[in-house]
Amino acid sequence: MIKLESRTTQAPELPQQVYLEVTNRCNSLCVSCPLTYDHFLRFEPKHHLSWQQFRTVVDQLPRIDRAVLHGIGEPLLNPELPRLSRTSRRVVRTCSSTPMLCC
Ligand code: SF4
Repeated sequence: MIKLESRTTQAPELPQQVYLEVTNRCNSLCVSCPLTYDHFLRFEPKHHLSWQQFRTVVDQLPRIDRAVLHGIGEPLLNPELPRLSRTSRRVVRTCSSTPMLCC
């Protein structure tokens, strides 16, 4: 177990993996999910991650080799998902899941 007081405020190295929530929208209404009850609306509006937002994050992480495009929401609802998955400048392995897998 890592003691809280021993943790630094800066990561020793740039991350090689990033988890990005590509949308916080979902077309399912699972009874156990906070999205169903709009619990997060007071913190963030419903939206999709844009291509520009994605690039802003990924461009700051030159060592990244894996991006997990998943969060609480249905990734396939984001119309930019194919473009996010491809990425143009460097190869980034991506994976995602649908609600069939997220629950
Ligand atoms: S599919 Fe996932 S994101 Fe959608 S309502 Fe169910 S648990 Fe929430």
